Amino acid sequence: MSGKEPLDQELARALALALEAERLFGIEELPRGPLVAAPAEPAIEPEAEPARPEPAATPSASVAREGAAPVALAELADRIAACRDCRLAETRCRTVPGQGAAPARLMFVGEAPGADEDQSGLAFVGRAGQLLGKMIQAMGLEREQVFIANILKCRPPENRRPQPDEVGACFHHLLDQIDLVNPELICALGATAAGNLLERQDGIGRLRGRVFDFQGRKLVATYHPSYLLREPAKKREAWEDLKLVMRLLGLEAPPAPDRRA
Ligand code: SF4
Repeated sequence: MSGKEPLDQELARALALALEAERLFGIEELPRGPLVAAPAEPAIEPEAEPARPEPAATPSASVAREGAAPVALAELADRIAACRDCRLAETRCRTVPGQGAAPARLMFVGEAPGADEDQSGLAFVGRAGQLLGKMIQAMGLEREQVFIANILKCRPPENRRPQPDEVGACFHHLLDQIDLVNPELICALGATAAGNLLERQDGIGRLRGRVFDFQGRKLVATYHPSYLLREPAKKREAWEDLKLVMRLLGLEAPPAPDRRA
């Protein structure tokens, strides 16, 4: 083997990643920086989260550890459907508990359901959800391999920002879900999700690109797909965040795209 081959392999891998992101995720130009993947990086240690009281143990959590997460998640969805703990119960059409694999190594958490989600009862099915699907595909995964949820399980009227008392009333549902899905890594989509999970007021620009600890799990924040639809130039940074997620999970680079298609 010549000494040049590893470099060629690294170049091919980085090019495949860039082309796949371009094709699947809508990034319209290749990275301007060197295409050669960075040398092996030291292990990334999560930043410590602020002290937070441990959530009370729930019956569903113990079931998850026994490998019955889907059943327990269905029971949790029933509890959410019956929940009227905040004013959003008055205006919702359907509750949107979230969906996907359980257990799953990767869990995405967004802000709140929108109009399409309110009608369907499924998380991330509108335009932003379609973009999230492309982001997941660009990582070499399928939606069915991850779990997707929101901080709130009911739509705020006119898609306004969740109010603190609504988040406070709903957060235990998400904590139960996280316990059941048992992800190694949570990818927080947008400032509302990241800020509430980390109990920080920083904008998403300061939170993204870093690795935090959330109750013993890694947490990476990136832009919400709705924001990326409005600001497509930010897709490049979002792709950097997703590559960080891939590195942390030890995921292989996606296969090179078929350029004849
Ligand atoms: S948003 Fe959460 S707390 Fe409020 S009614 Fe819906 S499920 Fe209950």
